[in-house]
Amino acid sequence: MGHHQGAPMPATLRHAFRARAHPARSVPCPHEPCHARAHQACIVRVNGRVMKDLHPARINLWERTVACCPECQVQPDIPCHNDGAPLAGTVHDRRIQEAKEILA
Ligand SMILES: [Zn+2]
Ligand SMILES: [Zn+2]
Repeated sequence: MGHHQGAPMPATLRHAFRARAHPARSVPCPHEPCHARAHQACIVRVNGRVMKDLHPARINLWERTVACCPECQVQPDIPCHNDGAPLAGTVHDRRIQEAKEILA
C-alpha cells in the first residue's frame, strides 16, 4: 500500500516536445523576407539567425489553416473578412481563441 508508481514517461516526453515546437511550424512562413519552409524554424534574414519564436504572420496563417472563425463564419483555410473586406495577413481574436482550444 502507498507504493509510489511514478508518472508515465511518454506523457512527460510529449509535454516537453510540445513546449518546444509550436504547431505553426507545420505551415510555411509567409513573412517577408523569412519564408521558412514547413517544419523549419523562422530565420532573421539580415543576420541568418534562427529565431526562438515564430513570426506572428506564420502563427496567424496556422490559425487560419486549422480553425473556423466564429466571428466572420469562415471555414478553415479561408481568410478572415469584415463584411467582405479581407483582414490582410491577420485573423480575428475569436479565431485565435479557437485555434488555442484545438491545441489544448
Ligand atoms: Zn518566419
Ligand atoms: Zn474571422
